[in-house]
Amino acid sequence: MRLLLVEDDPILGNGIEAGLRQAGFTVDWTRDGRSAQLALETTRYELVVLDLGLPRVSGMELLRQLRARGSDLPVLVLTARDTVRDRVSGLEAGADDYLIKPFDLSELVARIRALLRRAHGRSVDAIRYRDLVLRPESLTVTRGDETIALSGRECAILVELLDHQGTALSRARLEESLYGWHDEIESNAIEVHIHNLRRKLGSELIRTIRGVGYLVPRDSP
Ligand code: CA
Repeated sequence: MRLLLVEDDPILGNGIEAGLRQAGFTVDWTRDGRSAQLALETTRYELVVLDLGLPRVSGMELLRQLRARGSDLPVLVLTARDTVRDRVSGLEAGADDYLIKPFDLSELVARIRALLRRAHGRSVDAIRYRDLVLRPESLTVTRGDETIALSGRECAILVELLDHQGTALSRARLEESLYGWHDEIESNAIEVHIHNLRRKLGSELIRTIRGVGYLVPRDSP
């Protein structure tokens, strides 16, 4: 799950970036509104954590532009000011949720997870697929009585494939969701993770579509 963090305060930004990485997210951090615009144009994100007071282009302006383009990307706004006016105009501009500074990192992570669940139409912290139940927050899959532990990357790949059942995702597409700007990508990393997922969960789950990518078949109701 790749997130964009837009925050100009270096100390706060550092802390949030570290906390989100610790929680298992891939994070790109930009420190001004213009860089955030560029990032949003070039990279696929699952969610944006957006400070409102930013140099160059304000968070509110950024949010308005995003919604004007028809994007429904979840946006969690960070604001230093707890005023009704700010809150109302932020929500009108298309924010999905709000946090007033200062806040606990655990609260931020909980809100982000709630927004992501909502965006994917999930009401609970688990993704069910046939006889499997994937719980991203604990990095586990259960099948009957058996609990299978996954690495963070394995879990991220599986979430991505389960969110796009019936669609083949290319290696580049999976890499984009897994790695931030400053992460080094090992050349065969995706293949290795897929291999490990098949070893842990059985070879039937993830199919290789030659020349295209990987696919989890649609779960028939
Ligand atoms: Ca700021």
